[in-house]
Amino acid sequence: MCGIVGCILKDKEAAPVLLECVGKLEYRGYDSVGIATSASEIRIQKDQGKIDAFTENLDMKELPGKLGIAHVRWATHGLPTKINAHPHTDCQKRIAVVHNGIIENFKELRTELINSGHKFSSDTDTEIIPHLIEKYMDEGLDLEEAVRSAVRDIRGSYALAIMCRDEPGKIIGVRKESPLIVGKGEDEYFLASDVPAVLNHTNQVIYLDNREMVILDGEEIIIKDLDGKILTKEVHTIEWTPDMAEKQGYEHFMIKEIHEQPDAVKNTLREEEDIRNMVRDFPEFKKICFVACGTSYHASLVGKYLFETLVGLPTDIILASEFEYSGGALDKDTLVILITQSGETADTLKALRIANEKAETLAIVNVLGSTATRDAKHVIYTRAGPEIGVAATKTYVSQLTAIYLLAILMGGKEELLETLQKIPDFMEEALKTEEEIKVIAKKYKDTYDFFFIGRGFSYPTALEGALKLKEITYIHGEGYAAGELKHGPLALIDDDVPVVAVTPPGHSHNKTLSNLEEVKARGARVIALGSKEDHVLKSEAEDFIGFPSEINEMFSPLPYVIPMQLLAYYISIYRNIDPDKPKNLAKCVTVE
Ligand code: GLU
Repeated sequence: MCGIVGCILKDKEAAPVLLECVGKLEYRGYDSVGIATSASEIRIQKDQGKIDAFTENLDMKELPGKLGIAHVRWATHGLPTKINAHPHTDCQKRIAVVHNGIIENFKELRTELINSGHKFSSDTDTEIIPHLIEKYMDEGLDLEEAVRSAVRDIRGSYALAIMCRDEPGKIIGVRKESPLIVGKGEDEYFLASDVPAVLNHTNQVIYLDNREMVILDGEEIIIKDLDGKILTKEVHTIEWTPDMAEKQGYEHFMIKEIHEQPDAVKNTLREEEDIRNMVRDFPEFKKICFVACGTSYHASLVGKYLFETLVGLPTDIILASEFEYSGGALDKDTLVILITQSGETADTLKALRIANEKAETLAIVNVLGSTATRDAKHVIYTRAGPEIGVAATKTYVSQLTAIYLLAILMGGKEELLETLQKIPDFMEEALKTEEEIKVIAKKYKDTYDFFFIGRGFSYPTALEGALKLKEITYIHGEGYAAGELKHGPLALIDDDVPVVAVTPPGHSHNKTLSNLEEVKARGARVIALGSKEDHVLKSEAEDFIGFPSEINEMFSPLPYVIPMQLLAYYISIYRNIDPDKPKNLAKCVTVE
């Protein structure tokens, strides 16, 4: 999730403006930064690290011109190094490109381009784009046609800003599945991934849709589809303050990130091919062992149920902080799967070092180039983009997606991929429960204890619901396997204790329904999550959150966690707590 900008100014130098604009997008990525401006030739400066340090060491005179593009990177392909920082160029350095997104077929295209004589200088997927444009321009196309031909060749997601020495005075933008907006100032024109980048210069904004292209030439804004047909688009007046704009109008990063989850899952699903290639080279494993902490532990628990069901291998799950005491029974036939959002979690890294000596290790990580990605023998990247809210949301569903892909491919259950592809739509449906959840949150905001129960695939969802609640509302929440209640915690249930029951259709449904009767008999107030068609469940619950009935138990953890996150979020709002910065917690836990 990088940030891109472009601008054409009338009587100001572009470089300082570009740096100011791209600085407003640093929340989208911050491992490297780069800028290209154009006067008589294209000049590029880029480096690893954050914008402030980059700007401090920059001589603006090296970047003359009233037109340019810039980038802050959140690496997806290629380490966060200077050489991989954007902009990327063609062989002759006449075309410069900044990109947000992932090119899925870059390996094939790169091989083809290398075979026809192109020279690459980075490890990124992005670099194939300037080379493709170069190829088409060499065949006689102008920049606009060459860009159109290039994007026809690529699969994946992109927002691009492109400039070319041979057509000075012009910037072309094009998008598919990554955001891109056009800002229209007083004789000044902007392109950006997001509104905050341009707000100091204009509040007049056009939102580009998928497969649309914009041509800026300093005189007008021309928008076309990918067949070259001119389109008329609405210009919006933005009323947001810069702070609101950074969160896309949401009050907090957490709620913005909750809404980004269907996209985070879609982006992680793009890893299918890489995971398939990795799995092809795996030896015959006899055992799986998941290692993780916090929310990642709950993702691992879903993993345990999945691996045992789909792959048929015995699967352990160990808390990373406990691994050195109990993680001994490993050998070369064991695959240890470590899950860490940041790739820097101290407990998980320690477990990884121990596991590396005995077994095959695989890290599931959101941050490219982090320690776990360097130390593990295999890596799967989740594609959630940077997560700023301390309570994990979109990184959790991305971890789950990676685990589903891995289990389905290792188990040879390809037929399930089709269902997995439908999950982002079901998650969109789940987001529509927001208004109902607000009402429930208001009702229970002053409660002292909450219980969350579920069986099978719903047990990790119950645990995650309780953890979200604890993290950001400071209310005590217990997640329990529904069948365990009678072995102790039932003693805590009495009048008015809310119990959230995760009850999707499937194998565990009827038994959870009985457990729900047990808590009701002790006076509990039941909030049930289940199929919209489940009239029995609905009649048993005081509050009911309905999901499409096609969501079966096995895939329920992805959509069903959303109301849990929303419940915790809105209770925290009604208790006047900042959910982005809960007390005593940190985003990346680098101590044991
Ligand atoms: N795939 C590109 C890179 O790794 C862009 C990254 C992104 O948009 O997150 O450089």
